[in-house]
Amino acid sequence: MPRVLITGAAGFLGSHLADRFLADGWEVIGVDNFLTGSPENVAALQEKPGFSFVRHDISTPLYVKPDIDGVLHFASPASPVDYLELPIQTLKVGSLGTHNMLGLALAKGARFLLASTSETYGDPTVHPQPETYWGNVNPVGLRGVYDEAKRFAEAMTMAYHRYHGVDTRIVRIFNTYGPRMRPGDGRVVSNFIVQALRGEPLTIYGDGTQTRSFCYVDDEVEGIVRLFHSERVEPTNIGNPDEFTIRELAEIVLEETGSSSELRALPLPEDDPKVRRPDITVAREVLGWEPVVSLREGLRRTIPYFRERVERDDATARALGEA
Ligand code: NAD
Ligand code: UDP
Repeated sequence: MPRVLITGAAGFLGSHLADRFLADGWEVIGVDNFLTGSPENVAALQEKPGFSFVRHDISTPLYVKPDIDGVLHFASPASPVDYLELPIQTLKVGSLGTHNMLGLALAKGARFLLASTSETYGDPTVHPQPETYWGNVNPVGLRGVYDEAKRFAEAMTMAYHRYHGVDTRIVRIFNTYGPRMRPGDGRVVSNFIVQALRGEPLTIYGDGTQTRSFCYVDDEVEGIVRLFHSERVEPTNIGNPDEFTIRELAEIVLEETGSSSELRALPLPEDDPKVRRPDITVAREVLGWEPVVSLREGLRRTIPYFRERVERDDATARALGEA
């Protein structure tokens, strides 16, 4: 049975990927230190045959005994709120962590896939963003800790490919959402849904005219798996090209949750990209992939998860308050 090692397996995307590889008949070794991930995701995976877990900070070297055919490197804080709170860990896992996981892939003769990001394009001056665009990143701004860590990770991945012959892949992931995001992780989809469900104001940063293009997690995982199995070494955008302003997203979330929450304007964070939309010509032509789940459909699949989480968290808070 082939075996992959997935870093960040306790997180949102890593746990969905682990599910997918298990369903495809692979053994999966999940690695995580629970920095921003959840033990609950690992507990659910541990019920499945073929899954094992190693608790480890991959910014320090990791040695594993079994043969490994693939390393999927997804460990990193991903929400801006998380990486602004954890700047040094973010830089370390993107640099040292990537180096360590490339070393592991080299030692095992495994294929390596890096979870990179649309943030490598920064606040883009080319729109939509093709893979050939080099980006517009402020290296010393607050977001630089994430953007530059990922840009370094891409450079290190290409160096291991060119100088050590490691079989590498790089996926540039654009804003992905779905069940298993932490309700408090601070990203816009989770914030808006949780605020709508609680009847609290939806927090719009800036004037809400900035855009993002939201991909449902099942589409994202399908694209990543296809890239992993392909022969394409160069970075590849995987995201949904349907673009929305943040204000439009807020209105759609209100409609889909049936909420009458107000919209509240808050200051725009530093260096917040004004537009973002993937050019997915490469994914279409090379992988035969494009997303199939619309934003409304994806939200309909995601809202029940958050409803359950919010009810559970509120019940726990009430019980603690009464105790
Ligand atoms: P997440 O925060 O849910 O998951 C990240 C996981 O990595 C967590 O379980 C965390 O505990 C773990 N981790 C962090 N540092 C670690 C370390 N030093 N050692 C071991 N584990 C560590 O985030 P996510 O949304 O699932 O993102 C996963 C990956 O995808 C990240 O690399 C992120 O940069 C990338 N990405 C995600 C998106 C998105 O929209 N979700 C967009 C672009 C890129
Ligand atoms: N945003 C917002 N309200 C929130 C959270 C985020 O208006 O409660 C905005 C944020 O300023 C950005 C966009 O939504 O313009 C997407 O933010 P997110 O943190 O999800 O990810 P980003 O794409 O910035 O990495």
